[in-house]
Amino acid sequence: MPEAPGAGKRGDSEQPLQDGFLRLLFYSKNLNIYKFFGFKYFKVVKIPKTLCGKCKSGLGVVKLGFMPQPLCYHCFVRQIERRVIEQLKRFIHFTSKRNIILQDNGSLNIACLHYILEKYKAKYNLEIRTVKASCKISDILPVYCLDELAVILISRVLFKEETIPSYTALLGTVHSKELELYSELKGLKGRVLTHLNEKQLAVLNELDKLEQKHPQIKFSIVRFFQKLEDLQI
Ligand SMILES: [Zn+2]
Repeated sequence: MPEAPGAGKRGDSEQPLQDGFLRLLFYSKNLNIYKFFGFKYFKVVKIPKTLCGKCKSGLGVVKLGFMPQPLCYHCFVRQIERRVIEQLKRFIHFTSKRNIILQDNGSLNIACLHYILEKYKAKYNLEIRTVKASCKISDILPVYCLDELAVILISRVLFKEETIPSYTALLGTVHSKELELYSELKGLKGRVLTHLNEKQLAVLNELDKLEQKHPQIKFSIVRFFQKLEDLQI
């Protein structure tokens, strides 16, 4: 079963940061500073050096809001990829498909997803095809990240909109801020694009506010719908 993002052990989420879901810390060796990527601010502060909460050997430089300990770059990257692979396994489980069609819209999302799938395609016996943004064919996988997928799934209930099964969104358990950092670490280029319409963006705005107090809310929404999908088997 997929774990909550960042949850290494039970109890990791017992001490969430007080102010917000996600603070990504970018460590600069030269300046010995951490840059915080938050929802409302970007600032530079000094914090004490601490070891990675997972491997206990690397320098903890990426702090997820719901984990008491920061992760080193290596563990952060591994965790992001692990979550995508968990979604991929769900996709294969539900559809029995191993051919993946992606549409290159130039977004950061597609750059990250393509990179990760290429990395693991031999292991999972995948056949990956990328088509142009203008190409209108069926079976193209959506590239919604966690924020977007949570909204899409809520829209199913709120607006009775036709929507997608959660397992088709392979980035659906990775937060947009996490994707930004992942792409930075891997040197991936792409535009930060939204895949939501105006109504859905209004829902996202409300979710972002809730997330300040309830750091895992988007993940909980996605997990809830995943459980419903599991029940339909
Ligand atoms: Zn580590």
